[in-house]
Amino acid sequence: STNLSESDGAVMSAVQAEHKRQQQQIELIASENIVSQAVMQAQGTCLTNKYAEGYPGRRYYGGCEHVDEVEAIAQARAKQLFSCEYVNVQPHSGAQANGAVMLALLQPGDTILGMSLDAGGHLTHGARPALSGKWFNAVQYGVSKDSLEIDYDEVAVLAREHQPKMIIAGGSAIPRHIDFARFRAIADEVGAYLMVDMAHIAGLVATGAHPSPLPHAHVVTTTTHKTLRGPRGGMILTNHEDINKKINSAVFPGLQGGPLMHVIAAKAVAFGEALEPEFKLYIDQVVANAKVLAEVLQTRGCDIVTGGTDTHLMLVDLRPKGLKGNQAEQALERAGITCNKNGIPFDTEKPMITSGIRLGTPAGTSRGFGTQEFHQVGQWIGDVLDALVEAPEGNAEVEARVRKEVQQLCARFPLYRQ
Ligand code: PLP
Repeated sequence: STNLSESDGAVMSAVQAEHKRQQQQIELIASENIVSQAVMQAQGTCLTNKYAEGYPGRRYYGGCEHVDEVEAIAQARAKQLFSCEYVNVQPHSGAQANGAVMLALLQPGDTILGMSLDAGGHLTHGARPALSGKWFNAVQYGVSKDSLEIDYDEVAVLAREHQPKMIIAGGSAIPRHIDFARFRAIADEVGAYLMVDMAHIAGLVATGAHPSPLPHAHVVTTTTHKTLRGPRGGMILTNHEDINKKINSAVFPGLQGGPLMHVIAAKAVAFGEALEPEFKLYIDQVVANAKVLAEVLQTRGCDIVTGGTDTHLMLVDLRPKGLKGNQAEQALERAGITCNKNGIPFDTEKPMITSGIRLGTPAGTSRGFGTQEFHQVGQWIGDVLDALVEAPEGNAEVEARVRKEVQQLCARFPLYRQ
């Protein structure tokens, strides 16, 4: 059958239920977004059938002329978008991109210096349970106790003490701009590579809303599915020919087999969209919406880590309300607002509990929400959290009222059909 609902009703009904969930709730998970129909369509093409180990013009399989064209388009657009010389668009994910850089530039046992997970870093930057923490001597930096921003002095001290081969900047819960020049100065002082993982902020970097790491880093990795609003995937960029060569060998045959050509097609489409003037308007709206959401939550008695945000995300410290992150996440979920519990810097709660939640505006903004809608979202979050203070199991009446209002708002901003 050509129709999924006829050939596999079980999978189709789960997909439809997920579509309904996405339609009826407000997505505030900072790492998620809603791709365009063109991106979705490119990913659902016959390119999934094709093996294309190698790179455009140098493949290990025949019949690659059309996928070569697709990968070349993706490469050219990525280079234009980030003003860089070399790109590898094949990593299947952000974690694979980071793994490939390590395979390219490091030996097992080498010292790396990355941001710790609890301060806002990512698992792939040297966290203990991950490959990066197991196979390398991973030293971790954090944020300053006063400002709760990256502690550059600590980075410099640790770099001098441990002499890392690579320093990693970037993370998953950093609400403020990162000073890449400062990182590079520290890396140069100790002779380390600087890798910047711009996964969260790639869309902001593309439009100039966040300073670009490319003039400073030896190598830049990213996911393509967060603020960049492309398909789930990864990418590696550099301005150094020698590093590019090593990266290409590390991605294939080092770490991966055949590239996902249907995903690379969708990356090409997303990069094309990001080059359009509308994408800059979108990113500016993402940032404006985040500022409004943070301000409303402050008026509702929440602490925002660092006192606000310059980006698409914020960390909400729930301690002034006496609430835990897991409790807040669940109550908001019941009210139709999806987010994730998140440790705040120096959190004393366990990772499955936490004292905070992380909120982001990329998905809501893709849907068409402006500052007025995000103002309302902030008030709803305030209502649910205040009710939770009174009734730790959740106030069913308040949650049901918010859920109904959320659905009414969502109905005004429909997703495309599945
Ligand atoms: N790097 C950063 C900074 C991230 O936030 C993430 C995802 O959350 C990744 C890498 C990993 O990306 P993926 O989930 O595609 O492997």
